Amino acid sequence: MDKADAKKKIEKLRKEIHHHDHHYYVLDKPEITDADYDKLFRELQDLEKHHPDLVTPDSPTQRVGGEPLKSFKTVTHKTPLLSLDNAMNEEELLDFDRRVREGLGREKIEYICELKIDGLAITLTYKKGKFVVGSTRGDGVHGEDVTHNLKTIKSIPLVLPEEIDLEVRGEVYLPYDEFVKLNEEREEADEPKFANPRNAAAGAVRQLDPKITATRPLDIFVYYADLPHETHLDSLNYAKKLGFKVNPNIKPCYGIEEVQKYIKHWETAREKLKYEIDGIVIKVNNLADQKKLGFTSRAPRWAAAFKYPPMQAVTIIEDIQVQVGRTGAITPVAHLKPVHLAGVMVKRATLHNEDEIKRKDIRIHDHVIVQRAGEVIPEVVKVVKEKRTGHEKTFHMPKTCPVCGAELYRPEGEAITRCMNAACSAQIKGNILHFCTRQAMDIEHVGYALVDQLVEAKLVKNIADLYKLEKKDLLKLERFAEKSAQNVIDSIAQSKDRPFDRFIYALGIRLVGRHVASLLARQYDSVDDLFEAKTGELEKIQGIGPKVAEAVSRFFSEKENRHLIEELRKAGVRVKAEKARGPQPLKGKTFVFTGGLETMTRPEAEDLVRSLGGHPSSSVSKETDYVVAGTEPGSKLAKAKKLGVTVISEKEFLKLTK
Ligand SMILES: [Zn+2]
Repeated sequence: MDKADAKKKIEKLRKEIHHHDHHYYVLDKPEITDADYDKLFRELQDLEKHHPDLVTPDSPTQRVGGEPLKSFKTVTHKTPLLSLDNAMNEEELLDFDRRVREGLGREKIEYICELKIDGLAITLTYKKGKFVVGSTRGDGVHGEDVTHNLKTIKSIPLVLPEEIDLEVRGEVYLPYDEFVKLNEEREEADEPKFANPRNAAAGAVRQLDPKITATRPLDIFVYYADLPHETHLDSLNYAKKLGFKVNPNIKPCYGIEEVQKYIKHWETAREKLKYEIDGIVIKVNNLADQKKLGFTSRAPRWAAAFKYPPMQAVTIIEDIQVQVGRTGAITPVAHLKPVHLAGVMVKRATLHNEDEIKRKDIRIHDHVIVQRAGEVIPEVVKVVKEKRTGHEKTFHMPKTCPVCGAELYRPEGEAITRCMNAACSAQIKGNILHFCTRQAMDIEHVGYALVDQLVEAKLVKNIADLYKLEKKDLLKLERFAEKSAQNVIDSIAQSKDRPFDRFIYALGIRLVGRHVASLLARQYDSVDDLFEAKTGELEKIQGIGPKVAEAVSRFFSEKENRHLIEELRKAGVRVKAEKARGPQPLKGKTFVFTGGLETMTRPEAEDLVRSLGGHPSSSVSKETDYVVAGTEPGSKLAKAKKLGVTVISEKEFLKLTK
């Protein structure tokens, strides 16, 4: 191919990829399969490799690139990013409305209500339709140049369909399930967890190495564009046409009563969103009206933020005890006087570590404010010091492990105190329990109480021993009858054939969470391949860093671990990928599930599809072969019908798997 042809082809591929990025990341309506997308992408990469002089910064291949930065450059904002006046209660909200009405001399105002996403405010600048600079809000006047990192966010267009100069502002956020996943991984990796999605998003945007940012699936909602339109809503709708992601829940509200209704609705409905919001933003819709109202020295007069109260409660710490995790980490836990919080009864709160307790000056018998964010374990926000009586007791970290008595150790520079005794029964129990959890080998009927009994009775010393258990062993234990013992034996036997990624995760390798386990399972067919894997080879897998590679290779080279895995293999546990499995009746077929299933959970159904050679997917496209509609199917059903995709019932799906 000569240069002119290559240039044409490259331009065509980039256009196609931009188009599909927009459909996938902004509209959530992919038109092609991931495999076809990868093909386009690889074709572009190859061409650019042969013609490096044709690579431009707005190529989709350049989203993650460049060397880590030494520091951030400072950017001066074209117009300052002001913060909004907070209306904390109903009265202040009515006050805001009164001031606006007086300022404009009208009885009723058209407002636009928006969800206040709990993320990081950023500005994107486009010159002649090309993304040139992205910056943080900073102090409002100067921000940090984080262009490299923002480019990794696929819902941010690198090129616009029009060659215009434009500035847009938005909120970068981490979706809630990604936040939970990230914290799970950090827990596995013994790294400190993020307190909330905002901190996680801010940390990712302010990374000096864009490769790290790229591993965090950040997203954005644009809430402002400097376009010459009559109303704020018009300018947002136009921004949408230009390819930006605008929140779908933005609503025009005529008069303050409608604003109040909107606020009331989202106060409870926010629990169902896939991202965290901490309030509502109210703006005057008409841009000429906005201009007329102008600004105070700190904030616009035409906008206000209504903040929701955080989900908090006050209670008393009755005791502080430490827990020993399966990695030996010692975590202090506050035992609370039970209190209702966001719909559940809370009895415990994590205190993270020794430094955290000192920093917050938390003592036994203190009155404290506890806070819960979604599914995360509640935490103690602060002590109500006015309520102290002088009888509070300072907590001291124990010197020895409360379980095995071994001396505890806190490495210099680390926050976590550890029990280093590998034979510590708390760690052994933790490892066995981890192996049995739903996300791992999913062994039903084997929970904390039973693992505790089994280890204490010396019936089980490690995970391989589980498969040697016999019914008569269990019958010796308290609380066991013929039937309950048989149930345990059956569920252990059923766990022998779990997908390979779940097996890897179940081994409890340090730094290997569910995500890393699935990356490994995609790359390696069996545990034998992993025995051979060298650190350098592992590092080449995208998403696996040097620390993880080191931990994996060390785990599989240790004699004891190899022995344990051999024992599992001998017991009949599958230690390889499903590819080698028998019939593959769903081979090459793509399935999308919508609505509730009767005989299994959605993750189980997706695992079943995978194990039979098919691909589960979360969104419907023309490439979908079957949409399985359960009870109360969602919008995916309508989409399937529109695209002419075959829709089947759960029963029909089960027939296909036979
Ligand atoms: Zn111990």
